[in-house]
Amino acid sequence: MRYQRLGEAWILRLETDEEIFSTITRFAGELAIDTATVTGIGAAHHLVLGYFDRATRDYVRHSIEEDVEIVSLSGNITLKQGKPFPHVHVIVSGRDFQAKAGHLFEGKVGATLEVVITPLVGYVQRVKDEDSGLFLLDL
Ligand code: ZN
Repeated sequence: MRYQRLGEAWILRLETDEEIFSTITRFAGELAIDTATVTGIGAAHHLVLGYFDRATRDYVRHSIEEDVEIVSLSGNITLKQGKPFPHVHVIVSGRDFQAKAGHLFEGKVGATLEVVITPLVGYVQRVKDEDSGLFLLDL
């Protein structure tokens, strides 16, 4: 991964086969980015996406092995159990140009991935919500 600061924001270039979620998590941790918005475009493979099933209070997971475009990556970084935690969703499309989308659990970079992280002033933490089982924003 390469990165550059632009004003208050950071622009990142992730390299082929880097793991997306863990790279963003590590970057935010090392630079102490507590709360931020995250956007990106690029390409990926070996993705695991999630759909949250409220009835089971768990994610249905869907794997995408082939190379796809990341048409849109968006999310945020907040503090979960005291550490910067990215919450990221993606819309991807393959050779058939059909879109698939979901909560990003993991994925490897294809040709490249371009991410912009814009820190926000202050911080927000996540707390466990007993109804959903999710760590929701503590606002
Ligand atoms: Zn999500």
